Amino acid sequence: MPSHDPILLILDLDETLIHATETPIGREEDFQVGPYFVYTRPFLTEFFHACHQHFQLAIWSASTMSYLAEVVENILPTGMELEFVWSRKRCIQRYDPEWQNYYYLKDLKKVKRKGFSLERMLIVDDTPQKVSRNYGNAIYLHPYFGEVEDEELARLSRYLISLKNLPNVRSIEKRTWKKYF
Ligand SMILES: [Mg+2]
Repeated sequence: MPSHDPILLILDLDETLIHATETPIGREEDFQVGPYFVYTRPFLTEFFHACHQHFQLAIWSASTMSYLAEVVENILPTGMELEFVWSRKRCIQRYDPEWQNYYYLKDLKKVKRKGFSLERMLIVDDTPQKVSRNYGNAIYLHPYFGEVEDEELARLSRYLISLKNLPNVRSIEKRTWKKYF
């Protein structure tokens, strides 16, 4: 894939773009999926539109495909297309002996196999553990739990757009982005 193609931006879903909970949080939900009350993160629609102008977009979640597909249908602006929507099936399951639980990893090697370049790929997630194999491609944001005053996505879109022409996204430090945006 030539380097002048737009960077591929892979977005996590839960606690990154939305918050879904079986217990309502005291204000009206944006929509429901199965037993879940779903709250979209403030600026989500603006975020999609801003990023869509400059990036190829994809969503990769460690949730099930049936839940994921229904949420995406509710949040994606009409007519907008994604490169892919991947569920937990594409994740790698690992056991954490310290916390004695299983967790899911997103390994960008799988995306590379589809023909995308690792130098031109960013993954946004609220859980560093999930992208630990590719921290050089990762951008972290605060987990979203339904706060109405949250501004992470507005800040993040400004930051992402500042990276859009980087030949190699892995060459720069990204952990400190919130100091500047
Ligand atoms: Mg998440």
